Amino acid sequence: MPNYKTAKLVKNRDHFKCEMCDKLKMAKVYEYQSISYVRDYIPHHYKKLCADCIYKTAYGTKLWKKKKKEGALDEM
Ligand SMILES: [Zn+2]
Repeated sequence: MPNYKTAKLVKNRDHFKCEMCDKLKMAKVYEYQSISYVRDYIPHHYKKLCADCIYKTAYGTKLWKKKKKEGALDEM
């Protein structure tokens, strides 16, 4: 996987508003930037995402629940 793809846990617990679903959460905070398939286009770099949103974005609707259970992105 290329290095410029960012999907990581930044805080184990914080009070924040998720940039994707706009919900206020008291939970884990993740950072995410997807791979750019288009030259000179930089995908939006999300700084604060909730677990549901980042797992859905990173793994898609079929896999995200399984990956979340495994804690695939939960290493700091
Ligand atoms: Zn969210």
